[in-house]
Amino acid sequence: MTGTTTNADLTRRWQGALMNNYGTPRLPLVRGEGARLWDADGREYLDFVGGIAVNALGHAHPAVVDAVSRQIASLGHVSNLFVAEPPVALAERLLELFGREGRVYFCNSGAEANEGAFKIGRLTGRRHMVATEGGFHGRTMGALALTGQPGKQEPFRPLPGDVTHVPYGDAQALAAAVTDETALVIIEPIQGENGVVVPPAGYLKAARAITANAGALLVLDEVQTGVGRTGHWFAYQAHEGVLPDVVTLAKGLGGGLPLGATVAFGRAAELLRPGQHGTTFGGNPVACAAGLAVLDTIAGEGLLENVKRQGERLREGIEGLGHPLVGHVRGAGLLLGIVLTGPHAPRVQQAAQDAGFLVNAPTPEVVRLMPPLNLGDDVVDAFLRALPGILDETHGDGRSGE
Ligand code: PMP
Repeated sequence: MTGTTTNADLTRRWQGALMNNYGTPRLPLVRGEGARLWDADGREYLDFVGGIAVNALGHAHPAVVDAVSRQIASLGHVSNLFVAEPPVALAERLLELFGREGRVYFCNSGAEANEGAFKIGRLTGRRHMVATEGGFHGRTMGALALTGQPGKQEPFRPLPGDVTHVPYGDAQALAAAVTDETALVIIEPIQGENGVVVPPAGYLKAARAITANAGALLVLDEVQTGVGRTGHWFAYQAHEGVLPDVVTLAKGLGGGLPLGATVAFGRAAELLRPGQHGTTFGGNPVACAAGLAVLDTIAGEGLLENVKRQGERLREGIEGLGHPLVGHVRGAGLLLGIVLTGPHAPRVQQAAQDAGFLVNAPTPEVVRLMPPLNLGDDVVDAFLRALPGILDETHGDGRSGE
């Protein structure tokens, strides 16, 4: 289906109308169904990007379409002066999945969820915060201060201060940085934007012990890893002895709608006072109805099992190719990084797109896969069949990446 526009048209028009804050070129897409997407010229792609881990159920999932349609037809936005059923029900459902008592603050994005965590941190009365090198927490000023990628921070300094960045996965460095002045430590269970970096076993548990000893909050940024992406409801649940004080969520939670959440437990849940934080669309019934549909479908269709199974099939299939461009595959569930033997990821991304597969290159060496959680055998098989040709294409032309 092409509608009335073409790739060339949409490309020319976006260049004249949208700010160029993301790179070029950008593929113009017009329709999606499940794991399939179509561009404006009618070309079909299999989606292994999933809106950067957003489309938990793929595109146009009937449960999300139905929930959103019913909700917008009965009660859309109500403002935070009032309350509606969907945000209450979604908060209850999330707390059930965490298996703990707590409180939820709804917002519209991952960056905003982390702003909420940042403010909760400041409300402890301490200012110092510890985050990780290479970590990504969003682009708003507070979230950017926590982000450990100096290139992204540089043009925007001064950022909110008193943040120490420590090497990711290094419990000793963390212990050395955390003091009794530290408000919070923020960690991603897996660093997604930094190329799907998995910390050593025991790291999160050590972080829990270090923060507990210092009276600091442990904030886990599960914006990318949460809501089933790693084969657990939340990635930290794969680790024993890790109970965070705050978890931030977004992306997959809304199944394609803008929805973020700051979930706080224990004393962290009591710190925000009326009037200290808020956003107009936070807890929007339509986005929350989508969130409920996502959680119900993941539970009802056994998708956590599917994530583990398809993740393993992808990992084994890719490593089993024995291709000279592939070092190894890392990650968990359906958040996987194909670590290449050189800086070939941008070219693999382009070759994959030319072959009808959308993948992503968060770093020059890593190709990231974040397909829908309900991915079927057929889509995985199609990717595994096509991958050798895609890699050969990248390998064979004598160029060595961007
Ligand atoms: N935290 C993590 C771990 C992320 O991966 C991202 C987005 N890539 C964010 C925060 C920011 O989310 P958003 O783009 O919705 O603001």
